[in-house]
Amino acid sequence: MARYTGPRCRLCRREGMKLFLKGERCYTDKCAFERRSYPPGQHGPMQLRVKLSDYGVRLREKQKVKRIYGISEKQMRKYYDMAINMPGQAGHNLLQLLERRLDNVVYRLGFAQSRAQARQMVNHGFFLVNGRTVDIPSYLVKPGDVIELKEKYRSNQQIQESLQVRIQRGIPPWLELDPDNFKGVVKALPSREDITIPIQESYIIEFYSR
Ligand code: SF4
Repeated sequence: MARYTGPRCRLCRREGMKLFLKGERCYTDKCAFERRSYPPGQHGPMQLRVKLSDYGVRLREKQKVKRIYGISEKQMRKYYDMAINMPGQAGHNLLQLLERRLDNVVYRLGFAQSRAQARQMVNHGFFLVNGRTVDIPSYLVKPGDVIELKEKYRSNQQIQESLQVRIQRGIPPWLELDPDNFKGVVKALPSREDITIPIQESYIIEFYSR
């Protein structure tokens, strides 16, 4: 199934948590989830009382992750296949692969306010990785990679503001930002503690391996 392009706030309400899909708006009182924290649709409020089956719980956990990272079902399945074939814990491997996507790293470093915006910037060739243009959002970064905003985009006011906001909120410990040179470095692969999204990754593995 293709990537979802409908109203994003609906997704947060469906999943019962803030997924932070709309950049700065998510931190304001304009956030739709703050105002209506029940599922969308005519019977939305009633669904709060419905107890999910074991399958339903696992399905929702998988959907949450897909929506947070903005990826399709096909991509999610591909990451699952990669994760179970890697050494270590499959659930952690899965989250690590998602975190290593270039669009996520651009977002985490603060060049973009949301992953959707980061994906668009990567697609349009805003970034160099180790000195070469990479315009593939799913590119997986590795330790030592240097991600750099191209010079012609550095005067962009929105990007500069976004970097300042990110510096205040904090950069994940596995990344390092040099804001003066619009550069980020991947110091290490993210550990499970570095990935702070509230997800039960074991449920996702169980969902696909059923
Ligand atoms: Fe979700 Fe609120 Fe952001 Fe909309 S504004 S995407 S409801 S967190």
